[in-house]
Amino acid sequence: MAGEPQDDCLFCKIVAGQIPATIVRETDSTVAFQDINPQAPTHVLVIPRVHYRDAATLAAAAPDVAAAVLRETGEVAAQQQLDSYRVVFNTGGGAGQTVFHAHAHVLGGRGMQWPPG
Ligand code: 5GP
Repeated sequence: MAGEPQDDCLFCKIVAGQIPATIVRETDSTVAFQDINPQAPTHVLVIPRVHYRDAATLAAAAPDVAAAVLRETGEVAAQQQLDSYRVVFNTGGGAGQTVFHAHAHVLGGRGMQWPPG
């Protein structure tokens, strides 16, 4: 059922503590942890505890949780002392999404280009 933990989902397993992660912040509805393959000096993923396949699906089904994820990106940036940073929601394989549990990337600590690749 939408929103329920999925047995085959990597990020549901991190939420459940079944796979280790370096957690930097937690709230009732979100978990933030270091990306295993960082693309910047700071690269943290903010995920909802509930399972939805992408950010748009999460926002449609649980807008309060989507707002909490977005709020947490700012909290992570403050915690990591980032003046400038990028928040990315890859959505769909063609855009680079590889884990189909909604997540925000918080990237910072280096200069960035626009447009992104
Ligand atoms: P996506 O490509 O779906 O936007 O982002 C998925 C992210 O999850 C990638 O940046 C990838 O490095 C990260 N990732 C994949 N597997 C693991 C893992 O087991 N642990 C952690 N901490 N990050 C992971």
